[in-house]
Amino acid sequence: MILIFCAPSGSGKSTFVKYLLTRYNNFELSVSATSRKPRGTEQHGVEYYFLSPEQFRQLIDENRLIEYQEVYKDHFYGTLRSEIERIQAKGHHVVFDVDVKGGLNLKKIFGKDAVAVFIQPPSVEELRRRLEGRGTDSKEMIEQRLAKASIEMQDAPLFDHIIINDKLDDALKELEKLLKSYNLI
Ligand code: ADP
Ligand code: 5GP
Repeated sequence: MILIFCAPSGSGKSTFVKYLLTRYNNFELSVSATSRKPRGTEQHGVEYYFLSPEQFRQLIDENRLIEYQEVYKDHFYGTLRSEIERIQAKGHHVVFDVDVKGGLNLKKIFGKDAVAVFIQPPSVEELRRRLEGRGTDSKEMIEQRLAKASIEMQDAPLFDHIIINDKLDDALKELEKLLKSYNLI
């Protein structure tokens, strides 16, 4: 099964994914390639494969990405075909943490084998608080992320499910209820 998480940056996607991966051992994150620089404690091969713009371009040219987006200006992110093969070979469910366009593309590709979940922040103001609180992005980057968030929220109805991440405990319970309904946990 393919589990796609999409959400405006700062909504809590990584928090959801980390929770899922530490609690259940039958899920694995598809580690994306990106041309952005590591943030905080991020490590190559764990959160992302951090590449130079030239290396990223080479992946595109060699058709090694199933989808990719220029999520922010000059910052490319893409899903490696090899990640999906690696995870499925182990018999694990593949978890994607991608932007909204990428998520909808993946849903189109995997169809009924995929569940697409939109994680919605309670409000844009709260999103700003979370991004500022996380303390990993410059002021300019936060503004870019908030501008994109307002556009991404409009696509929420296109997803199979929407989870509002207001109180984290409640949102995680809702996620588990959803996964149970698909017999994934
Ligand atoms: P994303 O991966 O979507 O960019 P993160 O998971 O990094 O978002 O979350 C952004 C920030 O908000 C982090 O500092 C995280 O600890 C915090 N956060 C996540 N969920 C909640 C919540 N329900 N209430 C308050 N803060 C939250
Ligand atoms: P961040 O810089 O916060 O890690 O990620 C920025 C955005 O890029 C997030 O919405 C994240 O989900 C998205 N993203 C990460 N990997 C991919 C990918 O492989 N493809 C696409 N389309 N988006 C991605």
